[in-house]
Amino acid sequence: MTTLAQTYSDRFGLSFELFPPKTEAGMKSLFRHTERLAQFQPAYVTCTYGAGGATQDRTLEVIAGVHKKHDLPVATHLTCVGSTAEQLKEYLERAWDLGIKNVVALRGDPPQGETDFKPTAGGFAYANELVEFISTEIPEMGIIIAGYPEKHQEAASLEIDLQNLKRKVDAGADAILTQLFYNNADFFEFRTRSEKLGIEVPIVPGLLPVTNGAQIQRIASLCGAKLPPKFVSDLQKHEDDPAGQFEVGVEFATRQAEELLAAGVPGLHFYVLNKSEATERVLGAVTLPRE
Ligand SMILES: Cc1cc2nc3c(=O)[nH]c(=O)nc-3n(C[C@H](O)[C@H](O)[C@H](O)COP(=O)(O)OP(=O)(O)OC[C@H]3O[C@@H](n4cnc5c(N)ncnc54)[C@H](O)[C@@H]3O)c2cc1C
Repeated sequence: MTTLAQTYSDRFGLSFELFPPKTEAGMKSLFRHTERLAQFQPAYVTCTYGAGGATQDRTLEVIAGVHKKHDLPVATHLTCVGSTAEQLKEYLERAWDLGIKNVVALRGDPPQGETDFKPTAGGFAYANELVEFISTEIPEMGIIIAGYPEKHQEAASLEIDLQNLKRKVDAGADAILTQLFYNNADFFEFRTRSEKLGIEVPIVPGLLPVTNGAQIQRIASLCGAKLPPKFVSDLQKHEDDPAGQFEVGVEFATRQAEELLAAGVPGLHFYVLNKSEATERVLGAVTLPRE
């Protein structure tokens, strides 16, 4: 079995992130799109994890389905929200039995309307505790963590956030996937400062090609990502023209990816939002490093 650490040392680590659809029609559509994305032979495909048992079952259904249908390595996201350590372990064991050998280990967000994250009794307060727990309980599991080029919204400074990132790496993480961002300079600074702190695991930039101006304003405000003013005004020029917005988004993401590839990133993580078209266009336009 190829471990996650080997994945990035042996090849370029392309990865795609899905989310669990709410309906059967959404599931069918998702698999039509993953069929197309599979042609790029990603190093792995991930699926997000939400609060609530039904959504969590859907995460497993999506990711086990991708693994089985396309014979691709996969990772489930997992958060500390609302679960004891024992419940988290049960979930991971179910995942392992379905062939899911990697986990994106996260703390998760406070519930809507609350500003502070309150750990569940018998659970974990920060992702580094979850990473340590997984490394101890299921040492064979590949562990990926989240990093924030524009700093996590709750962190007082990037420096403090990077020290907390280092705690997760020291606890046993194999790779870092970043939050989406639209200013490569922020990523480069984040990478340089992480390396200075002694973080040696692969740091993989997260890209969300914009296909709809209104949607990206919403996503960016939720996660705190800055949108370059020229990009916003280019999107606004096509306000009533979805095809035009799509072209602007693909063009921007292609340039962003080209610059990141030229700077030697070990992989690219695409937030594909269960669709393939924009990511296909970007990957069709750039040259990925040879394996
Ligand atoms: C790639 C990626 C995938 C994601 N997938 C999901 C998903 O599937 N489901 C979901 O609900 N959310 C997801 N998120 C969002 C994530 O859950 C939130 O950003 C959450 O607020 C923080 O999670 P974390 O794992 O980064 O937390 P942590 O690393 O625990 O950090 C949270 C905050 O606490 C600080 N901190 C960390 N450790 C310590 C410590 N030991 N002591 C003091 N302070 C500390 C950090 O600086 C930061 O400000 C994802 C984010 C990314 C980037």
